Amino acid sequence: MTATHGFVEVADRVFVARYRQWDVNVGLVLGRDGAVVIDTRASDLQGRQVLDDVRRLGRDIEVRHVVNTHVHFDHTFGNAAFDVATVHAHDNVGRTLAESAEQVKEALRADPAGAPEYGYTERDAAEVLATPVRGPDRTFGSHATIDLGDRVVTMAYAGRGHTDGDVAVTVPDTEAVFLGDLVEESAHPSFGSDCYPLEWADTLTSHLLQSDDGAVVVPGHGRPVDLGFVSRQRDDIAAVAAVVRERRLAGGSLEEALRDADPRLPYPLADLESAIRRGWEHLAPLAP
Ligand SMILES: [Zn+2]
Repeated sequence: MTATHGFVEVADRVFVARYRQWDVNVGLVLGRDGAVVIDTRASDLQGRQVLDDVRRLGRDIEVRHVVNTHVHFDHTFGNAAFDVATVHAHDNVGRTLAESAEQVKEALRADPAGAPEYGYTERDAAEVLATPVRGPDRTFGSHATIDLGDRVVTMAYAGRGHTDGDVAVTVPDTEAVFLGDLVEESAHPSFGSDCYPLEWADTLTSHLLQSDDGAVVVPGHGRPVDLGFVSRQRDDIAAVAAVVRERRLAGGSLEEALRDADPRLPYPLADLESAIRRGWEHLAPLAP
């Protein structure tokens, strides 16, 4: 299945397609010397469907570059479909993709039936398992630029958050900014077993400071949002960090923190298990 509405233009020659499986967004930037695709969906087949959707927009569009906003499979497993493109990502994605991919495959092998609440079916799971994983060809630590002849696309790292390799992708001659899963619109932010809950809000603040007031922010999942939305989500993530920090440094137990609801937490406790566990670990050197 391809995107419900194909690629939709959100800024001058900057497009977004939103796909049903894992409700994930894919970006497309067109320039004189080719195109950049931002994130590639969750399987080889799904990556090929993205290419079909690009060609539907223009038969002669050549995707010369792919950027992965972070390591997760729903943003990287389509990479192999873009065989003539250079794949760009943060250094940490290059370091962790193989292991992260194997963990996802293991989890799906153990539970291949699909999960409608997470937006995928048994068939989607089988596709992910059949996918050859392709990592980045070029990685960077802080900043990198892709030159498309008449415009550039820039990639910037501002610290850890949703993972240790989340980057912002901007098209400086427009207001468009892709923030991957540092921000989500169709669900609350995803705190997984590889998140950095105590650093995430600061990372978002850095990206906010580097964005123009009128920025159109494309999240990893859901509709484009404005900076006000990003600031509010940043504040919610900071609230999670504050509660974890306070409880940890007060000497309470992890079991209590995982069990006892706190009215200051903006998200259900059940969805914050990894945030609490990870925060606990990261504060271990400071805690009594
Ligand atoms: Zn993610």
